Amino acid sequence: MDGIMILPTVIAAGGAALAMTAIVALRYLLASGGFALATARVRPGLYAGLGRQIRAEIGWSLLSAAIYGLPAGVVAWGWQQFGWTLIYRDWQAYPLWYLPLSVLVYLFAHDTWFYWTHRLMHRPRWFRLAHAVHHASRPPTAWAAMSFHPIEALSGAVVIPALVFLVPIHVAMLGLVLTVMTVMGVTNHMGWELFPRALVHSRLGGWLITASHHHRHHELYSCNYGLYFRVWDRLCGTDRGLSQP
Ligand SMILES: [Zn+2]
Ligand SMILES: [Zn+2]
Repeated sequence: MDGIMILPTVIAAGGAALAMTAIVALRYLLASGGFALATARVRPGLYAGLGRQIRAEIGWSLLSAAIYGLPAGVVAWGWQQFGWTLIYRDWQAYPLWYLPLSVLVYLFAHDTWFYWTHRLMHRPRWFRLAHAVHHASRPPTAWAAMSFHPIEALSGAVVIPALVFLVPIHVAMLGLVLTVMTVMGVTNHMGWELFPRALVHSRLGGWLITASHHHRHHELYSCNYGLYFRVWDRLCGTDRGLSQP
């Protein structure tokens, strides 16, 4: 490919990255804004006096949206243009049981990556360099969902764009994975438990991460590192149970 051919390709890929950045930013504003409104109704005054912190959370989150948008936009463009990735549209391409399995594989793979990179981020050097931004939210709010230093945002932004090259997934199931990622990212930080006690304190709930679990991470720091599941925290002895946000 000579220079004349490369330029339009770069412009098209860059446009896709920009468009994806706008989508991720809008998704963040709608999800965090929606749950912040719900918080104002369910727990009036919970965010009182946190205006400065919330403005910082929104600023870091919008910067993270650009970092998430870049690889996601380029991969989505490559999928449309050249058929990159193992994302499929035909419901018959794999057996039906593969649909929920693929969702679980994506969530577990993301959770595993997050658990180990998150533990690394709590090493003093990495904490000072990057993760302190996320923990500057004391207590976190619904706006802290994507409040990460760019280094940490980059570590999260590569996960799904890499997985779509490794594990086949139906486009609708990928949408479900992204929805779970968005909703849990917001609700785990909003300062109150959304899910019923009967679920949170059930046997199944004992393996799932909701606000009660992640809130304790923000209180105690050196425990409860997981994202969706408590599997790694339990295996590695870092699970310190639930908080009562
Ligand atoms: Zn957090
Ligand atoms: Zn942390």
